[in-house]
Amino acid sequence: MPDSSLLAPESLGATISIGEILVEIMAVTRGAGFLEPQELIGPYPSGAPAIFIDQCARIGGSAGAVGSVGDDDFGRLNVGRLQRDGADVSAIRVDTVYPTGSAFVRYRTDDARDFVYNIAHSAAERIEWTDAVGALIARAGHLHVMGTALSMPSVWALIEVAAPRIRARGGSISLDPNLRKELTVDEQVRARFEHLIEMTDLLLPSGEELERAACVAGKYQALDTLFEHGVREVVLKRGADGAQLFGRDGTCIEAPAFHVCELDPTGAGDCFGGAYVACRRLGIDAAESLTYASAAGARNVTYRGPMEGAGSREELNDFIRQTPRSR
Ligand code: ATP
Ligand code: MG
Repeated sequence: MPDSSLLAPESLGATISIGEILVEIMAVTRGAGFLEPQELIGPYPSGAPAIFIDQCARIGGSAGAVGSVGDDDFGRLNVGRLQRDGADVSAIRVDTVYPTGSAFVRYRTDDARDFVYNIAHSAAERIEWTDAVGALIARAGHLHVMGTALSMPSVWALIEVAAPRIRARGGSISLDPNLRKELTVDEQVRARFEHLIEMTDLLLPSGEELERAACVAGKYQALDTLFEHGVREVVLKRGADGAQLFGRDGTCIEAPAFHVCELDPTGAGDCFGGAYVACRRLGIDAAESLTYASAAGARNVTYRGPMEGAGSREELNDFIRQTPRSR
């Protein structure tokens, strides 16, 4: 039986994320990079922590974002979307000097992606402690952390304070390690990661990140190592191959993928995570929460734009009814 008390209940307070809020602008054609004039489409609201929170709110969870945007239309687009979808935006600060962060993306023919980012020198990295941030953290029941936060000093500074505070009031923590193989993990990031793992209830790795997170080769060895360090549940995301849940108590649930035509894979993992955390916190059992999460991830890849396909409970119910699954 999966652990029904894995995450703190909804009644304890909102699920929050802390991190980058961006717009994404996409190339319409596939190919290498941006070295010639080309058609672009966007801006789309983006940033992994924001996508997660948007899906969490859309499915009916109480959710809030801590972040920073510029005093510009890209910022207003993001805040407006999160607000429309029911998220608490009170802890998103508006920076009057720096512009909202952005990511230009173009898919290559082999599905690899080329990016031009403006994050480090944008409002996205200028997250700081404000009274509104303190107030949201004080009433939060769950913190979701993206691994990318570990290499963003301003974001890490808030997470370091928020994580123990939320835990001290009985809240829970989920972590999407986002340890992509092209990412170099220096000693400091590794130390932060290990510190966070000790506080993590739910880990949401994708593919080979499971072994990278545990620093151990072999799926089951990696799971054992993570469970020894206090993780209570691991949900492994496997793209079009579906997902698998592993509990520290030996639970194992397979979640076959829904059959969809993938238009834009970005944001699938964040929608999956947002839906899963919201459902578990609303008291939906692990198997059904996994179904909603799989539907949220699959539905999102059928939309162009990283959070355009985040679905409401009703939309996901329709999607589940209408979409065949692998098994
Ligand atoms: P990203 O970081 O790009 O947002 P991720 O690598 O964290 O994604 P994925 O494994 O790509 O996460 O996607 C999360 C979940 O969404 C999968 O486990 C699966 O349930 C669903 N999903 C993603 N892509 C597809 C697809 N092409 N077809 C069906 N389901 C999908
Ligand atoms: Mg991901």
